[in-house]
Amino acid sequence: MPGLRIRSYDYLVTGGAGFIGSHVCEELLSRGRSVLVIDDLSTGSLANLERCVENSGFSYAVGSVCDESLVSEAVDLCGIIIHLAAAVGVENIIRQPVETIEINVRGTENVLRSASKKLRRTFIASTSEVYGKGNCVPFQEEGDLVLGATSRSRWSYACSKAIDEFLALAYAKARGLPVTVGRLFNTVGPRQSGRYGMVLPRFVAQALAGRPLTVYGDGTQTRCFSLVNEVVACVLALLETDASVGMAVNIGSTEEISILDLAARVIEKTGSTSRVTLVPYDEAYPKDFEDMQRRVPDVTRLLALTGMAPTAGIGEILDRILGSAPAV
Ligand code: UDP
Repeated sequence: MPGLRIRSYDYLVTGGAGFIGSHVCEELLSRGRSVLVIDDLSTGSLANLERCVENSGFSYAVGSVCDESLVSEAVDLCGIIIHLAAAVGVENIIRQPVETIEINVRGTENVLRSASKKLRRTFIASTSEVYGKGNCVPFQEEGDLVLGATSRSRWSYACSKAIDEFLALAYAKARGLPVTVGRLFNTVGPRQSGRYGMVLPRFVAQALAGRPLTVYGDGTQTRCFSLVNEVVACVLALLETDASVGMAVNIGSTEEISILDLAARVIEKTGSTSRVTLVPYDEAYPKDFEDMQRRVPDVTRLLALTGMAPTAGIGEILDRILGSAPAV
């Protein structure tokens, strides 16, 4: 890997130029840790790493986690592995169904195989999507996953991430890999782009531009939004806890808000004159799209393992987003 500043790093962050990844890197560097990033810049951007590149303990390699030799070389150089590289955003996933499955499955397989050769402490990012259309909220890690038909590509994301989880837990059981899986719920904050369909950065951009806020369906569907800095703190705390090895752990806030109320809060906080437009699902997404009505994490396991869980409410989250530079 040419151009590296130092010969070994405390952490490898795959997908480090993405929204969550760049916040992980900033936090690690602020704690005096050295960080190597692998990112293919497909949805991430070097602009996200503006604050990191000045730090002498930071390097990045532009490349894909699907590149087995790149991953193996990077894992060899790093003590702890945080695997975040994955397909991003519901819209992107529906548009690029093959790439979604390949990057999620092959990329994670490469990371786990390399990490297990050296028994590196590893974190694999999964998603609340794996709960699918289950309605047993709050979702508990040992609960069933309820996915839709294979003809509906939305579910390929959940299914590919569930495979990642099975594989990670299999490596833990069969090969002794010290790996933890984190199921990230809707994570938001400064630098998140609305380009891949995420609702909050979209609403903020629409409100600031005075355009209508596009609420899909009737807006009664709810989500729990977590501030990225709190999510990052949970990820790092889980890595410091041996008791989390071989487990999947929900990471998210339990404060539930409907998408319609979210739109109203964004309008209020920005002082915008925008109105809300209800967009039928058929117009917002390709035919046969299925949305989840509610998605709330049970954070009992997270609290027991780390003593923390995201708590920032939507008001604080909006203050943080509005007080930062616009997303690129
Ligand atoms: N959504 C919306 N308007 C938008 C984008 C999304 O009403 O411009 C809705 C979407 O249908 C879903 C919720 O907001 O019910 C959260 O969508 P997002 O893509 O951010 O996350 P996910 O569906 O993965 O929870």
